[in-house]
Amino acid sequence: MCGIVGCIGQRDTVPVLINGLKRLEYRGYDSAGIAVLDGGISVVRRLGKLKELEEALLTGAPSGQIGIGHTRWATHGKPSEENAHPHLDCTGNLAVVHNGIIENFIALKEELQAKGHVFGSETDTEVIAHLVEEKYDGNLLEAVKAAIKELRGSFALAVISKHEPDRIIAARKDSPLILGIGEGENFIASDVPAILGYTRSVIFLDNDEIAEVTCDGVKITTFDDIAVNREIFTVNWDDEAAEKCGYEDFMLKEINEQPTAVRETIRSSFVGGDVRLDTASHLTEDIIKGLNKIFIVACGTSYHAGLVGKNAIENWAGIPVEVDISSEFRYRNPIITKDTLVVAISQSGETADTLASLREARARGAKVIAISNVVGSSITREADGIIHTHAGPEIGVAATKTLVSQMAAIYTLALYLAQVREAMPKAEIDKLIAEVKALPDKIAAVLADTSVIEECARRFSECRSFLFLGRGIGVPVAMEGALKLKEISYIHAEGYAAGEMKHGPIALLEKAVPVVVVATKGHTYEKVISNIQEVKARDSYVIAVATEGDEEIKQQAEYVFYVPETPELLSAIPAVVPLQLLSYYIAKIRGCNVDQPRNLAKSVTVE
Ligand code: GLU
Repeated sequence: MCGIVGCIGQRDTVPVLINGLKRLEYRGYDSAGIAVLDGGISVVRRLGKLKELEEALLTGAPSGQIGIGHTRWATHGKPSEENAHPHLDCTGNLAVVHNGIIENFIALKEELQAKGHVFGSETDTEVIAHLVEEKYDGNLLEAVKAAIKELRGSFALAVISKHEPDRIIAARKDSPLILGIGEGENFIASDVPAILGYTRSVIFLDNDEIAEVTCDGVKITTFDDIAVNREIFTVNWDDEAAEKCGYEDFMLKEINEQPTAVRETIRSSFVGGDVRLDTASHLTEDIIKGLNKIFIVACGTSYHAGLVGKNAIENWAGIPVEVDISSEFRYRNPIITKDTLVVAISQSGETADTLASLREARARGAKVIAISNVVGSSITREADGIIHTHAGPEIGVAATKTLVSQMAAIYTLALYLAQVREAMPKAEIDKLIAEVKALPDKIAAVLADTSVIEECARRFSECRSFLFLGRGIGVPVAMEGALKLKEISYIHAEGYAAGEMKHGPIALLEKAVPVVVVATKGHTYEKVISNIQEVKARDSYVIAVATEGDEEIKQQAEYVFYVPETPELLSAIPAVVPLQLLSYYIAKIRGCNVDQPRNLAKSVTVE
């Protein structure tokens, strides 16, 4: 998720590592560190920004020609100096940096501890160092390969060892890693900007590939020992374009990262056919069985994830749910008992009103689950249980990949509650688990062809007002579509329950007000079609989000954005994606800064 950089050559590696890490700062991080081969291995790590690390290096910095560096964005274990990378084995002769998540780290850690390995951090990463130590028999490459065979999850990693002080071993599976080819020196990095100051010759490692990087060259094989001959790519991007991986903006990059974000979020939720919540151990099965009310509290986009959660939890787990805007909940005297669960959703985990709601709820005796994208954030520290969305840092102010990850997290929670309370037959839960797992591919299918959305954006970018309508699970999707549009393009937009249109918004309708209708297949589909008729009768143009294969809707709508078929309650995820893209393209045509819309802050830490 965050930054790796490594360098091997003739020059002192420390400035190269620090410069490289600075170029990766945009990815977001909470701590940083380096390890340098200088006869032994010297490690310097600090919590906080790179300037803390730089300050630490002012006094007695190590120096050496081989080194690895890391900016960490915690997924397992709070942000702290002990948890910052690089991590060492028991002997201190081997250092590892890692991006990603080792899903089976608990089992591996227990095995390694039983063999006498002593751990110094709470991270999943540290098992890699001890596992390589365990496998080492005089050949670092082979030891890393053997260790990798036992890892489940996602990783980009780099390993150095005192015993082989002429190489860095680098490997990747599902997390990015590149090699930079210099003259008499070579580099590794999570991303191109880190090495642009030194070389423009780059090799992109693929999944399941491992590289042995020396001063003179790189040797790549697959994890199964098949030699890989990859062409060298010459980068002609400038620094800024490189940070965005060639995308025009962070927002577009993050929209395109949504399949990965959802995959990472649900990665460890389904084990052996069961739903599992890793970090909710204070919520015993008895507490969950005794719940008689759930409040979901959130602000902005997260509130829309909450509305999706209400639908899923009520339908699957049979518990009444109320969704509250945090700034209302905290002041409105909600009725809370010890059998109430409060689910607080905040991307940053620092949203002031959500944090205050959580405290209020706990003071009144409720149990609280926090859903956050930031490990160690305030709401996670104060909750009884945590579900982390593993979307990675989001730079664009408008939430995209964190929203779909929150939705995925709350679907998981709903299934977990249903499972514990035996509210649904197991076979039905199994079917839904399979469908949740299929969501990343469905998002990818929507992202694969955006031409209709772009054309529609061009057609309507001058309009001054939009209406978004939906029913059931389509309501939060419509609300999110409207929010996204107003946030980044400054066009007035309202998201409404379609049945409410007659009670007010219909008065706004005219040719110049396009109406976006979420019309995916579901039990209210016919009703939505009737609403479309009502819109058309007032001369407004209809833009529909519909299920693939629904040919008839083409007669009703000016533009149709098709999304793959999904069980009704899960359709919020694929259906919201075209609406994010519509706002994005409209905002771009209007010349707006989509990454930093005016007046908005990424994390709202004031009331
Ligand atoms: N899972 C690892 C940790 O929590 C790596 C996180 C990252 O990618 O920065 O330390």
